[in-house]
Amino acid sequence: MKVLICGGGVIGASIAYFLSLRGIEAVVIECNGAANAASGKSGGFLARDWCDGTPVAALARRGFDLHAGLAAQLPGDWGYRRVEALGVVAGGGRDLSRFGRLPPPDWLGAGSAVHGRLSTPDTTAQVHPAAFTAAMMAGATDRGAQLVEGCVQDLALTPDGKRATGAIVDYAEIAADAVVVAMGPWSLLACRWLPLPPVFGIKAHSLIFDYEPSPEALFADVETAGEEEAHPEFYPRPDGTTYVCGSSGEQGLPLDPADVAAEPAAVAQLHRLTACVSPGLAASRVLAEQACFRPVTADGLPLIGPVPGVAGAYVATGHSVWGMLNGPSTGEAVAELIADGAAATVDLRPFDPARLDPLDPQAFAIK
Ligand SMILES: Cc1cc2nc3c(=O)[nH]c(=O)nc-3n(C[C@H](O)[C@H](O)[C@H](O)COP(=O)(O)OP(=O)(O)OC[C@H]3O[C@@H](n4cnc5c(N)ncnc54)[C@H](O)[C@@H]3O)c2cc1C
Repeated sequence: MKVLICGGGVIGASIAYFLSLRGIEAVVIECNGAANAASGKSGGFLARDWCDGTPVAALARRGFDLHAGLAAQLPGDWGYRRVEALGVVAGGGRDLSRFGRLPPPDWLGAGSAVHGRLSTPDTTAQVHPAAFTAAMMAGATDRGAQLVEGCVQDLALTPDGKRATGAIVDYAEIAADAVVVAMGPWSLLACRWLPLPPVFGIKAHSLIFDYEPSPEALFADVETAGEEEAHPEFYPRPDGTTYVCGSSGEQGLPLDPADVAAEPAAVAQLHRLTACVSPGLAASRVLAEQACFRPVTADGLPLIGPVPGVAGAYVATGHSVWGMLNGPSTGEAVAELIADGAAATVDLRPFDPARLDPLDPQAFAIK
């Protein structure tokens, strides 16, 4: 059996890895380099129980456990470690003395205070997202999977449109027994090819600093002069850097993933927010100012499962803010679905693509 996976982000790489564990031929088609998009530019924060009480709980718990197992089994170093998370308030001329019950990490500025411990290392962890995605891809290719550079332009279907037979990649057809759409927010393009609900891209900016403080992940609530309240997140990493994300953007999703660009106003805002929380971090060398889009669906839940009415076609996207956490559990479940006809490790019914109306391709013109 040969499976084409459209998209080389964490979801595509994880599906390829778990298919390859079963000896199934997996071919990942990626147009702009693996992990070039959100899967290379995310926070990489993992939480076992922060999705509890939602339909994503089982996927998240399985994802958290798989991450721990992969860190122990798979070769490579992607900075996996258990971390605690702290809630921080900063700026706005607030009386911080009423928050400061916990001692702040020494890299926080005088205008910041810790208002609570959000988790302990028992239930939260982190990875370097690009390195993790690369390790999953390498784990797949070591077991026979292929990573092919190319742009998926269409699906190949039988004349009655009821079965996927491959994909059109750079004007040539690649035949396969099954095809998985895992193009993150660009999975929207697949609505032209398949009866799929829309996926939207929500933009966020991030900065990477050459600065390694103590390892706590910080979730901040910041008020800066003249600006609305903002909620940047801070992830020190064991590679000697600190990642900060938070500001959204004005520009919509470009057709080509290579055209995603950071916007100066959003980058400047993120620098101001960083300075508000940690002047020392803000003063350190900037290694990257970047942006990416997270994939979201109309009801906020991922789309994971068979495409209705088209045998051999599957979709796995829409993971929003938890794609790094839920990449491995999604990859494992999709591999089970394709190989065995049903997922055994996670109940995929909440993520059935058939729960949402498909987008009418006529109503959606991409020029
Ligand atoms: C700022 C930010 C911080 C985040 N922090 C976290 C976090 O801390 N923890 C967490 O769990 N999640 C986090 N996320 C969410 C997570 O990053 C995403 O959910 C996840 O990366 C989505 O992975 P993906 O593989 O679906 O999509 P993507 O990473 O977008 O990958 C899709 C791939 O498809 C390729 N592609 C697109 N069109 C085509 C085509 N036509 N042909 C071939 N290839 C194509 C693209 O080039 C891209 O590589 C964060 C997201 C953002 C934006």
